Amino acid sequence: MNTEIFVTDKAGLATFYEAIIAKHETYAPVEKFGKYEFKKVSALSGCDPDAPIATTMSAKPLFFPRSAKIMKYTADASGTKVSETDEDPLSAQRVILGMKHCDARSLQVLDKVYNWDFIDTDYQKRRRNTVIISARCDKADTHCFCTSLDYNVERLDAMDVLIVNGADGKVYIEPRTEKGKSFLEGDLTHHMTHVRDNEEAAKAMKKQYDAFAGSFRLNMDYKTVNEGLSKIFDSPQFENVSDNCVGCNTCAFVCPTCHCFKISDEKVKDTGVRYKSYDSCNNGYFTLMAGGHNPRPVKYRRWRQRALHKFVYYKERFGENLCVGCGKCTRACPVNISIFEVVSTLPHINNIQ
Ligand code: SF4
Ligand code: SF4
Repeated sequence: MNTEIFVTDKAGLATFYEAIIAKHETYAPVEKFGKYEFKKVSALSGCDPDAPIATTMSAKPLFFPRSAKIMKYTADASGTKVSETDEDPLSAQRVILGMKHCDARSLQVLDKVYNWDFIDTDYQKRRRNTVIISARCDKADTHCFCTSLDYNVERLDAMDVLIVNGADGKVYIEPRTEKGKSFLEGDLTHHMTHVRDNEEAAKAMKKQYDAFAGSFRLNMDYKTVNEGLSKIFDSPQFENVSDNCVGCNTCAFVCPTCHCFKISDEKVKDTGVRYKSYDSCNNGYFTLMAGGHNPRPVKYRRWRQRALHKFVYYKERFGENLCVGCGKCTRACPVNISIFEVVSTLPHINNIQ
């Protein structure tokens, strides 16, 4: 054991949050009409870093914006002139409060693709300049299944600073990365007790984790899912599971790991802007080629792509699932399609195992 931990209580945690907001550019969950979204905040009273699990949107838009201007241009009789867009507002040094484990973990999954064949320097800069502070959930909700996936939820290092509401009523704050360690140095933690390799703290944090891990309704063996799905590409069952899908793409837009995008130009008279915006493999036109051919002209093929990309192709290429088990897609789907149900039951339906 080689851990250092700051111990406080609920009031001390609020003081910690207030000091961060006063000192740093800070984003946190903000509630509007019962839905939560990550926004820039200027006071603790205007946000809820301990928001419930079902934040409607993940923090993905702070790293991969829904629709970003990537270029401006003028095009007239004298030719075309291209200019850079304004400075990226998401690349400043900043702190994000209130990200759940699944949200924080999704960034580690996305890092793989954003640092692969093309290095996305905007994404990298946003990642580098962000300190993630995350309170471990106390209880899973109906659609959560993060503990079923391929990472150690208890020892997750996807956040820089972990907060745990200990089973003994104390609040434990632990740096999980070097970035988190230097962030906690200084006056942010002056009002807390600093302990190192403390058994009592470790026990209280473990007890909280065990209660959390025991609260899941959904559990699956992801290795069985990976293997089973890899064998059923031609299964007619994909038609059944996607039958009700209305192709609204909500599942992709709220998913913290989906990263499909489209490039579009919007031009008025001689002036235009090029946008990079969210798209989804569930869109009928997503794979439509210039010559008119579409390899996924029907929705069961698009749904199959969604399931297999998340649990077969990404896993084969990058060694991890393109899903963190947050359940956001299922909560938001207007026709109640559950990705957990699809990927965990399809291999069984086909008697593959
Ligand atoms: S597919 Fe669904 S459960 Fe998995 S990460 Fe995306 S939104 Fe969360
Ligand atoms: S949210 Fe539901 S209905 Fe909409 S595209 Fe996704 S699975 Fe289909």
